[in-house]
Amino acid sequence: MSNAALSVITSDPPEKWQEILADLITDPKELTEILQLDSGAESRLAHFGLNRFSLKVPRPFAQRMRPGNWNDPLLRQVWPSQLEDEVDCSLSEDPLQERTFNQATGLLQKYRGRVLLTAAPHCAVHCRYCFRRHFDYAANTPGKRQWQETLEQIDGDSSISEVILSGGDPLAAGDSYLKWLLTQIDTLKQVTTIRIHTRLPVVIPQRITSSLCQTLASLECKLVIVIHCNHGQEIDSSVQLAVQKLRATGATLMNQSVLLKGINDDATSLVSLSHQLFDINVLPYYLHLPDRVAGTGHYLVNEQEGLDLITKIRALLPGYLVPRLVREDPGSDSKTRLG
Ligand code: SF4
Repeated sequence: MSNAALSVITSDPPEKWQEILADLITDPKELTEILQLDSGAESRLAHFGLNRFSLKVPRPFAQRMRPGNWNDPLLRQVWPSQLEDEVDCSLSEDPLQERTFNQATGLLQKYRGRVLLTAAPHCAVHCRYCFRRHFDYAANTPGKRQWQETLEQIDGDSSISEVILSGGDPLAAGDSYLKWLLTQIDTLKQVTTIRIHTRLPVVIPQRITSSLCQTLASLECKLVIVIHCNHGQEIDSSVQLAVQKLRATGATLMNQSVLLKGINDDATSLVSLSHQLFDINVLPYYLHLPDRVAGTGHYLVNEQEGLDLITKIRALLPGYLVPRLVREDPGSDSKTRLG
């Protein structure tokens, strides 16, 4: 690693990420006050969705929302709506049938050759469209002994070459725990790649500490970090710095977005997002149709709308900046690529 890369890793921002994580905005009223939103219908209705999924908004993320705008694309991702309580029989609490693939505590195996570990039972932000908003994290939070059993199970399957850490957000866990878990995975002889899916570099960029980066840089396995960013407005200089630190660990960085009604389901937003990701050296990888999760019907974009958008942005972007439009079908060998 070059000295320049090392210096990026070893300079921490002043704010402590744990303090930010302990001081999330959880009261809709506080969010409306911070954003100077009128206390009209939207705020009165905010408490409905909270029965199912609490409000969690990190302050650095809220700072990127535009004051006075109920339609702000970042606010829309976290604001609870009474529409979440509408009953729609075509939606499910477990649309990807993950309970079927939950083979051991904290372990899901959906695809051949790779397994997914729910490395942390919580997230720094509650995205209202989340496909795991009904996931039983309490039953999927292994202690160290259970992790050992899960890791032995992975070790006993020579077909597994990639371990994916996913949400809850793995980077919401502390450095020493992550170091322990990543090091354990790194020693599994047939595992060549560790992939981390995280929204922390976007919602709390201060999370990317020197201690975390040193752990990541020390891994023998190839490291892939998929950040989850849905709108260009989420990217500012602090996110850029976090990404720069992650790149300096030797990780390959990509982005995965969810196509969300009223948030990024227009060509202008998607083109801008791809350009801004490229500006910070992250390649747009997946554009995911929303999963059909109970309580999230108001975010759904249908397949034809998604295909039409891809056609539009293909005419405006070089091929390498056009994300793959995908859908997840439970039981499939991989994500289903559309168009
Ligand atoms: S960060 Fe990911 S897992 Fe957590 S609430 Fe958001 S979408 Fe769901």
